[in-house]
Amino acid sequence: MSGWETVVGLEVHCELRTRTKLFCSCRNAFGDEPNTNVCPVCLGLPGSLPVLNEQAVELAMRIGAALGAEVRPSTFHRKNYFYPDMPKDYQISQYDEPINVGGHLDLPDGSRVGIVRAHLEEDTGKTSHVGRAGRIHAADYSLVDYNRSGVPLVEIVSEPDIRSAAQARLYAAELQRVLVATGASDGRMEEGSMRVDANVSVRRAGSPVLGTRCEIKNLNSLRSLRAAVEFEAARQVVLLEAGDRVAQETRHWDEQAGRTLAMRSKEEAFDYRYFLEPDLVPLEPDPAWRDRAAAAVGMLPGARRSRLAGLLDAPGPSQADQIEALIDQGLDDLVVVAVAAGAPAALAMARAANELASSMEAAVAMDGGAFAALVVLEGQGRLTATQSKAVLAEMLASGGGDPVAIAAAKGFESLPDDALRDVVGGVIEANPQEWSRLCGGEDKLTGFFTGQVMKATGGKADGKAVAAELRRRRG
Ligand code: ADP
Ligand code: MG
Ligand code: ZN
Repeated sequence: MSGWETVVGLEVHCELRTRTKLFCSCRNAFGDEPNTNVCPVCLGLPGSLPVLNEQAVELAMRIGAALGAEVRPSTFHRKNYFYPDMPKDYQISQYDEPINVGGHLDLPDGSRVGIVRAHLEEDTGKTSHVGRAGRIHAADYSLVDYNRSGVPLVEIVSEPDIRSAAQARLYAAELQRVLVATGASDGRMEEGSMRVDANVSVRRAGSPVLGTRCEIKNLNSLRSLRAAVEFEAARQVVLLEAGDRVAQETRHWDEQAGRTLAMRSKEEAFDYRYFLEPDLVPLEPDPAWRDRAAAAVGMLPGARRSRLAGLLDAPGPSQADQIEALIDQGLDDLVVVAVAAGAPAALAMARAANELASSMEAAVAMDGGAFAALVVLEGQGRLTATQSKAVLAEMLASGGGDPVAIAAAKGFESLPDDALRDVVGGVIEANPQEWSRLCGGEDKLTGFFTGQVMKATGGKADGKAVAAELRRRRG
């Protein structure tokens, strides 16, 4: 790939978490018995009329607000084509006047990807090909489930600002977090709530013009997205280096084979004969509604990241990873609560990212106050790290509890301060040479003294308290 640049623009379809479908009152639910959530409207029966779902508009505006888009008056069009999972023979979609225009998504690596538009449209039904590995060719027969027909979607189209497969993955992962934060979507790629089409082209490094692109349809995991873009860019480079041309076409990602395959060429592309949907009026949400939608957006991942980073003096690289993990697992609020209650931030993050994250189910139910109290105890040196982890494990197993009581029940009484002072004094008396070396500046002997104190107290002393006492005595 050296000497070549990959260019990617992503089209992400996001199913909205509305109670009902976009144009009828059928339930919008994943995994129900096939063809149970259907009616004349979403089955496309003649004479049925669409009625726009207010909640879908609200969620679309939230997405627009989260992406810094301009929310505009919009219209709906009919996009005409035939497919068995689309009974009306057209899809109602926003076309040249979408609800959200412009905006951007900032990625955790500091890059920014422009957003062209984020428009409303309806989903199609779902076809399953039975036999022959689920592929349409040579399948024994196909089944159609219309439960998905008419489910509201927002399609988010990016500018071709993405420059690598890794960045494409990063963009999709960040967009997923943003969608979840808006409450518009659960972001579950494995359930098809978020589906990605990747437009990929390559060009000579430094070239200002875009190359011919291929569009890879329906990538349903972040891993496939990355692998498909990587494969496709390499395929195009091989063609171009051999003096061939890239044909603009739609391609399919074959997960098993690990490669993209041609689906249809530009010449076979549909002419959708778009025209205004005559059964729907233009949509013009008033400013107050737009503002309410924007205000309903939860804290965005970028802000959550800075909030955690701001608790630390200077986050190191491993802490940056910890912050990422805490946000993905939704454990950042617990950390913020603990720090507000007086817990040291680095310690709260470490306990959340390691101990809490290792049993997520219990962690999400963890009481913020109890977690805070535990980290405060450890931060004050009243529990050693080992004791603190044991108490936390117990809190996770039993669904909460008072860390002080659990520590007491486990016999984790920390050494009273005066007892600790006596023990440290005794250890110093027993090791006069080491002590004078430590006082002379040989700091690594702190470890030796801490070890001796631990031995003398059966592990009950707190390392930090020992270090503090040693410092005090050195003067
Ligand atoms: P269409 O109307 O055919 O879907 P668009 O111009 O709307 O085409 O672009 C669709 C997507 O393709 C956008 O995400 C855009 O960023 C991306 N895209 C356009 N041209 C290129 C290119 N040469 N290379 C990579 N991506 C591209
Ligand atoms: Mg497209
Ligand atoms: Zn319906």
